[in-house]
Amino acid sequence: MTDDKSAKIESLRREAAECRACPLWKNATQTVFGEGPADADIIFVGEQPGDREDRVGRPFVGPAGLMFDRALAEAGIDRNRTYVTNAVKHFKFERRGKLRLHKKPNAGEINVCKRWLMSEIDVLKPRLIVALGATAAQSLAGRPVAIGRNRGETLTLANGLRGFVTVHPSSLLRLPDEGEKQAAYALFVEDLRAIGEFAAESAPAGAPGAFARARGSLP
Ligand code: SF4
Repeated sequence: MTDDKSAKIESLRREAAECRACPLWKNATQTVFGEGPADADIIFVGEQPGDREDRVGRPFVGPAGLMFDRALAEAGIDRNRTYVTNAVKHFKFERRGKLRLHKKPNAGEINVCKRWLMSEIDVLKPRLIVALGATAAQSLAGRPVAIGRNRGETLTLANGLRGFVTVHPSSLLRLPDEGEKQAAYALFVEDLRAIGEFAAESAPAGAPGAFARARGSLP
């Protein structure tokens, strides 16, 4: 079964490498598809590959990815039991001299690229799907989701499954104040700890509201 899932993911990866469904492929180096074991308990969904991910061809290997790895380890989540991917598979940026500055994907790009994310979820069927930030939440929920209001809550995904919302680790890196950064990081680790506990105990994704009850946000 796991071999079958792995083969399907590899087939999707090859297909996505040729994707030209929106203009973002033109300036990016390559498609950056998801990565992780086919029997992963949790899928973490970020926004899009960053500068380093675009060059290397792997998700979550830049500065935000390194912080994410550290937070996962502190929360007791084995990164090797997770699958990490992005809502949009090509790097969107604008050039400023030699720099390539991240640019947020628009609703159209998120919507077009969603086919790859949904295919990954359909194949892997994890226990829990976690949106890291607003772009991932929008893709998964099929509507804009305010992270501040929905953080720590479950959200109903467009395919009827349940997911969890927290911040994207890059938002922590952008905080200018060191004290604020540390406080935000501690909250992020707390979210991850709850996610790990829930995934360890829960039924497969689709059990309605189980995580929200675990967090006390549903009756
Ligand atoms: S961003 Fe997504 S939809 Fe657009 S070309 Fe890349 S893989 Fe295809």
